[in-house]
Amino acid sequence: MSVLENITSEDAIALEDKYGAHNYHPLPVVLSRGKGVFVWDVEGKKYYDFLSAYSAVNQGHCHPKIVGAMMEQAQTLTLTSRAFYNDKLGAFEKYATETFGFDKLLPMNTGAEAVETALKICRKWAYEKKNIAENEAEIIVCENNFHGRTTTIISFSNDPVARKNFGPYTKGFIKIEYDNLKALEEALTNNPNVSGFLVEPIQGEAGVYVPSEGYLKKAKELCEKFNVLFIADEVQTGIARTGRLLATCGNCSCPDKHCSGTPEVKPDILILGKALSGGAYPVSAVLANNEIMEVIRPGNHGSTFGGNPVAATIAMAALDVIKEERLAENSQELGELFRSELNEFIPHCDLVTSVRGKGLLNAILINDREESSTAWDICMALKENGLLAKPTHGNIIRFAPPLVMTKEQLLDCVDIIKRTLSNFKK
Ligand SMILES: *Cc1c(COP(=O)(O)O)cnc(C)c1O
Repeated sequence: MSVLENITSEDAIALEDKYGAHNYHPLPVVLSRGKGVFVWDVEGKKYYDFLSAYSAVNQGHCHPKIVGAMMEQAQTLTLTSRAFYNDKLGAFEKYATETFGFDKLLPMNTGAEAVETALKICRKWAYEKKNIAENEAEIIVCENNFHGRTTTIISFSNDPVARKNFGPYTKGFIKIEYDNLKALEEALTNNPNVSGFLVEPIQGEAGVYVPSEGYLKKAKELCEKFNVLFIADEVQTGIARTGRLLATCGNCSCPDKHCSGTPEVKPDILILGKALSGGAYPVSAVLANNEIMEVIRPGNHGSTFGGNPVAATIAMAALDVIKEERLAENSQELGELFRSELNEFIPHCDLVTSVRGKGLLNAILINDREESSTAWDICMALKENGLLAKPTHGNIIRFAPPLVMTKEQLLDCVDIIKRTLSNFKK
């Protein structure tokens, strides 16, 4: 039918290169099919997916329950806008707020939009509840953060590639070192204009930086002391990725006790995205209790697609799958196995200095300069051996497979990784 039907990898790459903006540098593999933990390229070669679309596909590719829910809803009603009610949004809001333990949810589409929404809620709360003088509210963020790509969000990034020549930048942000409670306390002290602290429970894009034990809990206590909102960006860490339903896993009411980690902190504002959609369709959300969410009134904020019935239906199915298949527990168990296998291997391998992470959000550090191409070259070799992963920053490779992986599959992957690293020549 179409010329695209039998496209080769080479042709598909050439098309994107010629007609697409060059805002990504993809690994040269062209995928045309996915199922569970596997993806296939256009030539039919099968790979383990060790990125999961940056943790958006925690439930595995084309999960039948999620795809089924999507297809059924797509044939029934797709979009009404919020000018009218639809029959799915309320059910999703009830389900998600009960699951995560909040009064209310505000639906958006992408992670960056949800972060923007949280910032807006925080600022409005600052003026209306904390009585900060107009336009004076400040929000504390962390160095090496990643919260998305909007002009405001890149304003408080310190990644020159993401930031340079996109100014003028949005004001009102204070940047402190991640995992540094003293820096947080200093930033909070004697600054009555601080209204929020925006933080990733684990810094994913920065290279899977896990903060010190107790950091989040103590940071939350400091925020409480200074009447500042603790805003957790769990777009990447949430939805069972790190071995619990949430990396912050506060008072969430996980019905099947599938949260296997120790509860740590309950954020004032929780930001979700990525795997809230099961990788099927963009869905993001901001959750908070009434005394915070009530600052948002009709006309203050919105989105044409946010909260549409397809998104709401998919998100409910995506959360069902997490619970029914006990993916938080699986993530916890396989994550421990993965790190222990690699920790045994690392002393015998000059190339890798360490492995770190939580659940199935892990990274290895390559023993080379950050600007070297070694991590990229290793990912190319992994690809040849049937496993797809990507460097995060320079010399760090993130390993984040779908959470529906079995133990046998994980050990098979560990084998591929060890073999690739052992045979790798710089
Ligand atoms: C991916 C990500 C975002 C942005 O999500 P998009 O859907 O790409 O806009 C925000 N925060 C974190 C922590 C992320 O990992």
